[in-house]
Amino acid sequence: MVDGKILVEKLIKYALVHLHMEKRDEIYFRNLLLREFKLEEPTEEELDLSFIGELDVPDVLVEEVEKYALENSLIEEGRENLYSTYIFGLLSPLPSKVNQTFKEIKEKDGEEKACEYLYNLSVKNNYVQKTAIGRNLKWEYVDGDKYLEITVNLSKPEKDNKEIAKLLTAPKKSKKYPACFLCKENEGFEGTLTHPARENIRTISLTMGGEPWFIQYSPYAYYNEHLIAISEAHVPMRIKADTIDKVLDFVDYLPNYTIGSNAALPIIGGSILNHEHFQGGEHLMPMHNAKVKIPLKAKSFDKVNVGIVDWYNSVIRLESKDRKQIGDLAKKVISAWEVYTNEDCYIFAETDGVKHNSLSPVARKQGDLYIIDMIFRNNITNEEYPDGVFHAHPEYHNIKKEGIGLIEAMGLFILPGRLKKQLYMIAEILCEATNYDKEQLENQENYLHAHRFMIEELVNKGYSANMEDAEKRVTDYVNNVCKNILLNTAVFKNDEVGKKGFIDFLASVEIK
Ligand SMILES: [Zn+2]
Repeated sequence: MVDGKILVEKLIKYALVHLHMEKRDEIYFRNLLLREFKLEEPTEEELDLSFIGELDVPDVLVEEVEKYALENSLIEEGRENLYSTYIFGLLSPLPSKVNQTFKEIKEKDGEEKACEYLYNLSVKNNYVQKTAIGRNLKWEYVDGDKYLEITVNLSKPEKDNKEIAKLLTAPKKSKKYPACFLCKENEGFEGTLTHPARENIRTISLTMGGEPWFIQYSPYAYYNEHLIAISEAHVPMRIKADTIDKVLDFVDYLPNYTIGSNAALPIIGGSILNHEHFQGGEHLMPMHNAKVKIPLKAKSFDKVNVGIVDWYNSVIRLESKDRKQIGDLAKKVISAWEVYTNEDCYIFAETDGVKHNSLSPVARKQGDLYIIDMIFRNNITNEEYPDGVFHAHPEYHNIKKEGIGLIEAMGLFILPGRLKKQLYMIAEILCEATNYDKEQLENQENYLHAHRFMIEELVNKGYSANMEDAEKRVTDYVNNVCKNILLNTAVFKNDEVGKKGFIDFLASVEIK
């Protein structure tokens, strides 16, 4: 049994050390916690709580809060996480205070320290769940002078059967509030079984392109300090001229971070299209580190360097110290791409009134140099490729079937959690620790059914002497698939037709 009175003291101590609780507010918050825990007075014991100061993450306290809540029927089973989120939200500074502190630190010590403050608070109040993220598998695939980063994502929790059962009986609401997972109304939201609790989220307001936006960290942290910039208005994703003003405003405000937008169409646009948002952060992506292979010049934009990037898909890079020139050129490219058709490359701007071209602009700053990478995308489908001509082709769907959004396009692959176990099982077959049963794999119910062709290909090349070799071969296979998926997404292929097409498109905006 968890001792509630001692837990209250631990939480107060934790908030004083890690969550910026002011000493002046200590008694007030102790009383609020006693009320929450249905206790009448605090403990009179002398406690040694010095270990609280050493905690990097709140996990042990989160666990105790959830256990106490269940033991004392403060919450139904299955809703423990909603309860602990509420308690940690209660102990975190108010949004207004976080904004004020962020701005003060930014002015005094610079944007890096300000971001560090918000990020640490987000980890310490359990909004960014660092321990779960640490369990993700992660490796780098070096391919000549380029590389890819690959992670198997285990941190998005899978719902258990109890939760799913509850969902079936939960009453349906007529109007959804908050309208989506990104809306500003999430700040402080209690959460439901289908919508995460967000009492502990803290966001920072800023102006981008003359509109009110805000930033927050991603709770899933696909990379270091993974940040999302979100419009205050629940409006659909769009790539227009003002997208460029917004990303440039962002990097002027936080030059320590990159920022990019998903393409604004299905298949190529990531998982949320109904709320305008960008993704960025501290981490430089493999694409950022790829070099320019063909340097070019743009007529009437003498202060901008342009180049085709040595990358798997179709990217150009603009660089300039002149914000107006680089912005204007990027806007010109956006408008030209929207209507560009090249049948030789199977690029159709529109079929039957449906638009297919979109792009991802990604901005960052190096000193006073602005850099904008533009990744050209197209979401057309046909009979041969019903999921997308420039999408992962079917032979790679056992590894990645979901849309290839901005993060993957830049060379960081987020692969589904199921692969951890499946790849291990495939390696076991390869080193004959388990039997290769081709017939069994044909059965759709078989756990490895989706991987039957991969397994056949690997087995045909011979068995492995040991598990180490088998795992290496499986990893090599995955690496190669990720690379090929990126090549699939290239609208201008790395062949004569593709190269000619790329040059032809750029010439249409007087880039030569
Ligand atoms: Zn929304």
